[in-house]
Amino acid sequence: MTRIRQALIAGGGIAGPAAALALRRAGIDSVVYEARPEAADGAGAMLALAPNGLAALTLLGADRALQALGQPIRTMVMTDGRGRRIGEFPGLAGLPPNRVVNRVEFARALREQAIAEGIRFEHGKRLVGADETPNAVTARFDDGSVASGDVLIGADGIHSGVRTLIDPQAPAPLRVPLLNFGAVADIPVAAQADAMYFVFGDRGFFGYWLQPDGRTAWFSNLPSATLMTAAEARAVPADEWLRRLRGAYRQDEPARALLQHTAAEQLVVLGSMEMMPSLPHWHRGRMVLVGDSAHAPSSSSGQGASLAIESAIELARCLRDVPDVGDAFAAYERLRRTRVEQVAARAAKTNHGKTLGPVARTLMRLLMPVATKTFMNPERTLGAEQRYRIEWSEAVAWR
Ligand SMILES: Cc1cc2nc3c(=O)[nH]c(=O)nc-3n(C[C@H](O)[C@H](O)[C@H](O)COP(=O)(O)OP(=O)(O)OC[C@H]3O[C@@H](n4cnc5c(N)ncnc54)[C@H](O)[C@@H]3O)c2cc1C
Repeated sequence: MTRIRQALIAGGGIAGPAAALALRRAGIDSVVYEARPEAADGAGAMLALAPNGLAALTLLGADRALQALGQPIRTMVMTDGRGRRIGEFPGLAGLPPNRVVNRVEFARALREQAIAEGIRFEHGKRLVGADETPNAVTARFDDGSVASGDVLIGADGIHSGVRTLIDPQAPAPLRVPLLNFGAVADIPVAAQADAMYFVFGDRGFFGYWLQPDGRTAWFSNLPSATLMTAAEARAVPADEWLRRLRGAYRQDEPARALLQHTAAEQLVVLGSMEMMPSLPHWHRGRMVLVGDSAHAPSSSSGQGASLAIESAIELARCLRDVPDVGDAFAAYERLRRTRVEQVAARAAKTNHGKTLGPVARTLMRLLMPVATKTFMNPERTLGAEQRYRIEWSEAVAWR
């Protein structure tokens, strides 16, 4: 049996609480150290949980808390900017629908469940360094405090500091030439209640769905050669972004109407879309990465949170079953790398489709109806991603 008893988790977003809950089920205690102060819940618009992510949440006992959040999405409808249907992806047979949730509410629900199970969270603790001995690792935080444990898990998101501690040469996230925005507009639109609409408009991609409260959630991926961090994008006044968005989508419906009914203070500005390139080293010594720090697939995948939760569970399973820490981390990486890189590759193709010029865009709109019935059919495109299940009760084969 492993001698791991205590894990330090840097990051209390989605992967951090998920890892803490999974480790608890593996008989390993953990403390979650989150950089943000307790009162600050962070930002974020909506995120999608795919059937595989929902199944992973069930293993954590977190599926019931989730039922109170968000809404199910059974169908994905592709249209052009005039509202003409150019394709449709129904949910896969035998699987529950995707679920869209507010990121902040979802992260809070996971954290509350973890706290209810006795897991400690410490806020205002930004990890700035770590020191290893053969039997332990000590994390250093920006307030001068330290904490020691058997392993340090970097669940600190796409701009991970633990990643650089593991490998100072680690690649940085790639920025995709698409600016991300989201909001909930105060009007309903004519839409199927459980469908998410993807609009390939004249000058940009736009997604939306009707909420049960009669308002409409939307997000935009606006092509932009100027690459911006979230902080850089937020330095531009939200009014100015709304003005640009209204200009870009002025000929696309219902984007035009939704933007008219979105106030500047409702706009979530996320900067350029980001994704992690393939990362050479997921672990070193007693440190390991989980979630976006290792494998952010870009938000076009609809899988970022789901993969983060899956990885958290597989890491806990490996630490449960594999006696040596290094062997456990290697087994974890073997279980996860191919899968997460395949999802990232699909998302990269989707991103490419969102940055096409006018001619290629017209061609795509013409081909889409045939494509979605043949080579792009839902089962072939999404089956392997969404039908994936973790065999928690099975021992990890690692030798
Ligand atoms: C502010 C924010 C908004 C987001 N909005 C969206 C969205 O609208 N739509 C979407 O699909 N995805 C969004 N995401 C990404 C989404 O949450 C992740 O893709 C996914 O859920 C994987 O989660 P994660 O826990 O690996 O990373 P994250 O959810 O990014 O969580 C990482 C956590 O680590 C903390 N942290 C960072 N550095 C340190 C450090 N040095 N020490 C301690 N703690 C640290 C961060 O404060 C954060 O709470 C957002 C992420 C963030 C941080």
